[in-house]
Amino acid sequence: MERKRLNKSKIRHSIECLVINLWKGVDLNGAIPILIIDPGHGGKDPGGGINKYWKEKDMVLDISLYQYNRFKDLGVPIAITRTTDKYLDSGTRSAIVRNSGAKDCISNHINSGGGQGAEMIHSIFNDGKMAQAIADGLKEAGQNVRRVFTRKSGSGDYYYMHRETGNVSTTIVEYGFADNKTDTDRIRKHWKKYAESVVRSYCEYRGHKYSAPGKPLPGLVIDGRLGKNTTIAWQKAMGTPADGIISGQYRNSSTKPILSVDFGPEYTGSILIKAWQRKIGAKPDGFIGPETIRKSQKYLGTPVDGEIWNPSAMVKELQRRLNKGTLV
Ligand SMILES: [Zn+2]
Repeated sequence: MERKRLNKSKIRHSIECLVINLWKGVDLNGAIPILIIDPGHGGKDPGGGINKYWKEKDMVLDISLYQYNRFKDLGVPIAITRTTDKYLDSGTRSAIVRNSGAKDCISNHINSGGGQGAEMIHSIFNDGKMAQAIADGLKEAGQNVRRVFTRKSGSGDYYYMHRETGNVSTTIVEYGFADNKTDTDRIRKHWKKYAESVVRSYCEYRGHKYSAPGKPLPGLVIDGRLGKNTTIAWQKAMGTPADGIISGQYRNSSTKPILSVDFGPEYTGSILIKAWQRKIGAKPDGFIGPETIRKSQKYLGTPVDGEIWNPSAMVKELQRRLNKGTLV
């Protein structure tokens, strides 16, 4: 029995070390985060907060990446459990949070099941002040707050994100109900505003300096070529990671004229393109193809032929709108 337990704990320890090591490769740059953001679900787990506009796993990834980048801009040491559409089982997810070194965790979710408004859930062992601060911020941003609460199971917490995240104080944030029309309309229109309100509430709660997102306009050259600078400006406007690369694309005639295209990692699609497709009403698969180009041309009011030329009238209009800050 003893021996068995020892082996088990040994295995558990090596798994955790592996997780930590993998994790170190992902981000952090050696800094200990004070906050870790957790986009719920991912990969084969789409979440329950789904409707015809989004899957919970995608919407919470958009929200989380927006917050992650904003915290970085504000100089808040920050970590995140996933930056891509990746499945994390509960053991791996809670180990990443538990071992992150962070004080706090914000776990982002969208609800379902017939209610309206945002819900904040904190541990039964937590004073709930952070959850309340986040609730107040969301209310100020225009979202109805349904409740701030805890959920018990036996003598402990009901949710594993509270139970298994060690000393990290986790607040689960449900931004609204995917099966409620008011919430669906609000989240579609205002998800960035709600995400930003959480950034502000957290900074104020922890006494970190906060400033509203500025709008430094990119001053792009209107040359109709989709290169690094245009891509960075586009990513910033869409609130996705701004690395200047449109990654994970297929090698074809649609992507050939794009200077910032990257064919790796293989066929994963681009987070920027996914966010853009959602915006323009195209199928959000992350790949640039004739359908996405046509819908982009329609959205931007340039001739619709489903192709990107070099130079491209569509890209010129994209650059003009980015320069004016009127793209989204
Ligand atoms: Zn969820």
